[in-house]
Amino acid sequence: MNLLIIGAPGTGKGTMSALIKEEFGVVHVSTGDMLREAINSKSDIGNKAKEYMDKGMLVPDEIIHDIIIERFNKDDIKNGFLFDGYPRTVAQAKDLDSILSACNKKIDRVLDLCVDDKVLEERITGRRICSNCKAIYHIKNKPSKVIGKCDVCGSDLLQRKDDTLEALDQRLKSYHELTKPVIDYYKEKDLVSNINADQSPEKVFEDIKGILEEVA
Ligand code: AMP
Repeated sequence: MNLLIIGAPGTGKGTMSALIKEEFGVVHVSTGDMLREAINSKSDIGNKAKEYMDKGMLVPDEIIHDIIIERFNKDDIKNGFLFDGYPRTVAQAKDLDSILSACNKKIDRVLDLCVDDKVLEERITGRRICSNCKAIYHIKNKPSKVIGKCDVCGSDLLQRKDDTLEALDQRLKSYHELTKPVIDYYKEKDLVSNINADQSPEKVFEDIKGILEEVA
């Protein structure tokens, strides 16, 4: 099964991706995670991406093309994938179409996580992420047992640099201007399932499961 999960920052793409991966055995590919790893390793791509990401701006399509092509060279993607946070522009969606048709693949479903912008601000600014295993917490809605430490592996919890109010404004702007048209692009292909993501994570996943069980 080849899937895309799309949604504004804070709609729960990362949380749902982890659950979908576990339940359906797809490979989870997050371009955001790949870029953050590139930044940590101080690679050329990481250095270029950092200036955009810190400001909450989208990284240029050419850089995204390069990391996606590199990811397609790994064998595991053959067994089904879940792209999280990609494509984020119509140009990226068209590029993905060409990449997929060159390897005889297609997208089976696009999950569009919907949450009102007003709710996202609190979700994003309270989000904390494990520096090691990437488990996701929220200072109010899902606090760790020990403040600042991951329940799973005990490592430090960090706030992402772009999870600030200033960067969020820009990220939401990019989402509405550049990523919403991506959803319309896939709607025309009749691939989109809208999901109410302003519910408990358990309920959101139940809805997603219902949709994917029909696709599988
Ligand atoms: P995310 O972890 O998905 O919220 O992504 C964090 C940041 O990485 C975004 O705000 C962008 O700056 C950058 N990014 C991730 N994926 C993409 C993409 N497909 N296109 C452009 N920029 C991206």
